[in-house]
Amino acid sequence: MAILTIESTCDETAAAVIDDDGRVLGDCIATQEKLHEQFRGVVPEVAARAHLERILPVIDTAMQTAGVGPDDLAAIAVADRPGLAGSLLVGVVAAKSLALAWQKPLVAINHLHAHLYACQLACSEPIYPCVGLVVSGGHTSLYHLTSPLDLQYLGGTIDDAAGEAFDKVAAMLSLGFPGGPAVSKFAAQGNRKAHAFPRSMIHEDHFNFSFSGLKTAVRYAIVGPGQQDFSKVVLSDAAKSDLCASFEAAVVDVLVAKSVRAVAKFDVRRLVVGGGVAANGYLRSSLDAAAKRHEFEITIAPLDLCTDNAVMGAIALEKIRRGQFASLDLDITPGLQRGF
Ligand code: ATP
Ligand code: MG
Ligand code: FE
Repeated sequence: MAILTIESTCDETAAAVIDDDGRVLGDCIATQEKLHEQFRGVVPEVAARAHLERILPVIDTAMQTAGVGPDDLAAIAVADRPGLAGSLLVGVVAAKSLALAWQKPLVAINHLHAHLYACQLACSEPIYPCVGLVVSGGHTSLYHLTSPLDLQYLGGTIDDAAGEAFDKVAAMLSLGFPGGPAVSKFAAQGNRKAHAFPRSMIHEDHFNFSFSGLKTAVRYAIVGPGQQDFSKVVLSDAAKSDLCASFEAAVVDVLVAKSVRAVAKFDVRRLVVGGGVAANGYLRSSLDAAAKRHEFEITIAPLDLCTDNAVMGAIALEKIRRGQFASLDLDITPGLQRGF
């Protein structure tokens, strides 16, 4: 038996077919990057319409690749939270319609828990108990996990998410969208100490983050205090690289420091890291170094499972094992209360 998983929380339309043992039989992602590039960010209405056009072909492709039909499916799982309302709605309505038409049980997935579960998929041994860091386009949150489904929220960003800050800095420097990979490419050539950007709340004894001050500091470094107009600013590639490298170092320093402190406070042996920003090379190497220094294990989601995908929806298997099904009344939950 296999399950069908559906992901449409932001700007990736994805479906996967996964067997009982968590093996991926079929997997399809339609990304919308090209559609949102001209706006330098995801436009919710554009995203919702694109999901609508793509969702059925994506599900078809995943099932055809897997060589399965409706009769082979034990359940249909869908990410119902958190995300853009219009985007979530397309996935949830598709999943409910298929569950009704094919008479299959429905499973609701928390997209952030799935981002962390991507780490379990990359690890041959159980990763629990551990501290989990979600660093994505919309979230920067720390959790204490005792199982895939038992998470205690420790703290998160009080303003911008780390990925959002990458995207906004990329927009200020006209580096394209999504910003993370472009900023990281420039950063690799730059001097991480060129600009002394703020590391907000790095020494404070809690697990909240703030990246909006950093974003403003980068803005002032580009245009000067109080100025708004980027159109007259011409920067050399070397200057852009220094800005990106110093910005990236500021983000990474805070993420590493808070994660290390959480591992110590909750006395666990492992840190797991998921979400789009977990694809960042400098973050990965800095976390690896910190794990060695502080003698804990680290599991970072594999590169292809960092940004949005339906394979991490394998967390639905854990819910099925516990008998946690959703009803056909399932509605979307765009925002979360304290990380849930
Ligand atoms: P959320 O998961 O919070 O709902 P999301 O699903 O939109 O948000 P993801 O798909 O997990 O976010 O990640 C996308 C984010 O990851 C973007 O902000 C993007 O810039 C960032 N990102 C991707 N690759 C990198 C990278 N190499 N370095 C830094 N950031 C990156
Ligand atoms: Mg995306
Ligand atoms: Fe995501």
